[in-house]
Amino acid sequence: MLQLGRLLRASSRIGHVNYSSAAVPRTKLFINGQFVDSKTSDWIDIHNPATNEVVGRVPQATQAEMEAAVKACEQTFPSWSETSILNRQQIFLRYQQLIKDNLKELASIITLEQGKTLADAEGDVFRGLQVVEHACSITSLMLGETLPSLTKDMDTYTFRLPLGVCAGIAPFNFPAMIPLWMFPMAMVCGNTYLMKPSERVPGATMLLAHLLQDAGAPDGTLNIIHGQHAAVNFICDHPAIRAISFVGSNQAGEYIYERGSRNGKRVQSNMGAKNHGVVMPDASKENTLNQLVGAAFGAAGQRCMALSTAVLVGEAKKWLPELVEKAKKLKVNAGNQPGADVGPLISKEAKQRVCSLIESGVKEGAALLLDGRKVNVKGYENGNFVGPTILANVTPDMTCYKEEIFGPVLVVLGADTLDEAINIVNKNPYGNGTAIFTTNGATARKYTHLADVGQIGVNVPIPVPLPMFSFTGSRASFRGDTNFYGKQGIHFYTQLKTVTSQWKEEDATLTSPAVVMPT
Ligand code: NAD
Repeated sequence: MLQLGRLLRASSRIGHVNYSSAAVPRTKLFINGQFVDSKTSDWIDIHNPATNEVVGRVPQATQAEMEAAVKACEQTFPSWSETSILNRQQIFLRYQQLIKDNLKELASIITLEQGKTLADAEGDVFRGLQVVEHACSITSLMLGETLPSLTKDMDTYTFRLPLGVCAGIAPFNFPAMIPLWMFPMAMVCGNTYLMKPSERVPGATMLLAHLLQDAGAPDGTLNIIHGQHAAVNFICDHPAIRAISFVGSNQAGEYIYERGSRNGKRVQSNMGAKNHGVVMPDASKENTLNQLVGAAFGAAGQRCMALSTAVLVGEAKKWLPELVEKAKKLKVNAGNQPGADVGPLISKEAKQRVCSLIESGVKEGAALLLDGRKVNVKGYENGNFVGPTILANVTPDMTCYKEEIFGPVLVVLGADTLDEAINIVNKNPYGNGTAIFTTNGATARKYTHLADVGQIGVNVPIPVPLPMFSFTGSRASFRGDTNFYGKQGIHFYTQLKTVTSQWKEEDATLTSPAVVMPT
């Protein structure tokens, strides 16, 4: 009852999930401060992944609507970038409080559209909220540099200035956190923003837009369009857009990076992953197995930092039966049900893909120690559920190892030594995250230095950095040279202007023009 109340409150703000109407509610666009109905004839269904019921429809915005959204960004940029930084900071201080006040409403809409458990959905909002809190330190983060007296009476100083119109393209798996990596950081720097949420989970972004408006963001500073390829191409090609932030699959991310860069834009592109957890025989066993199971199967494995691959070293190979026992105990259920550990996958197609990757593992010689394909979730028989699955004896040539599965499937490899494990990790093309479990400091240090991965956990299974740092995935998991949030995020959304000035009394020594390069 409480959850339904939250959904109703949220729905009244985002324009869909209207339980009192027979018609399927439609998501609006957000253009120049107005939540407007799209005139498109092309709509995409939004499904509840636990039931496959259609809970909303999202428009493929028309060309005219997308143009209007960019125009609003362009027209608002001069006044927004000139708004005092203290006023921008105040808006985001109010915003972080409004997100806290509406955390449960945001979580309930995430669970409805994305499927993850309510507790996990709250974590999704919370990790995004931390970025907004960090953005509130903008008065320190945006400081420039100065160097006085470079020569007599001459000083040099830099300003960090906003770029103009920036745009974000988000994936389905973190409906609140990832949009919150994007527009708050850009806007607090003085940019205006065009956001395209995932067409599968637009609700959280719409509620976040309402809250930003309530916090006092002027009309036109944030604009939201919806759609798929046409909207993405529009963003990559529009001459007014200076920078693109993308998070999602490699297929889309490589494409957007190339197309956007070719058009002269800054692009940061966070993409897929295959994160390895290296388990040393000296690790604290109980703790390690619990961490591994949580990080492999939490959010049904639909996290870019999920620990989807275990490398058991030496005697740790004997821990497999206990690993399986722990995974078996997880409760698969709809995300809004009490006690649920593992929710559904996002779509029927995703379920089919995950099941066929499990099958490929079996065919290619892996040992299927736990098979979640036939899981039965009472009352939710039509949902996209796959239970925790463990494939052991996996080798690097198998399809289930090479592909990002993005489901509740842990693939397990063995290694005899730490060096062998490091070699496995470094030969894998992805570099998003990895973790080592050990009680030996020298082993941990060696791993953190030699593993060629951008984010490393030592006895920490999902080492996503807090926003005072940056999200530093590497190799095939990232394209670009400036990462999301933290100092790197500020650098991405700003450009430097350097001023060299000389103020001196009348100079009697300069009697003729100086034509030689000043030194
Ligand atoms: P996706 O690439 O399918 O979709 C992401 C966005 O790109 C969506 O807004 C979508 O409309 C658009 N899109 C999809 N296909 C496109 C195409 N062919 N051309 C142009 N645009 C396209 O990703 P997803 O399924 O929503 O998200 C899951 C993926 O995101 C996984 O690979 C996961 O690892 C990755 N991810 C990475 C990070 C990270 O920080 N590295 C974080 C979260 C998710």
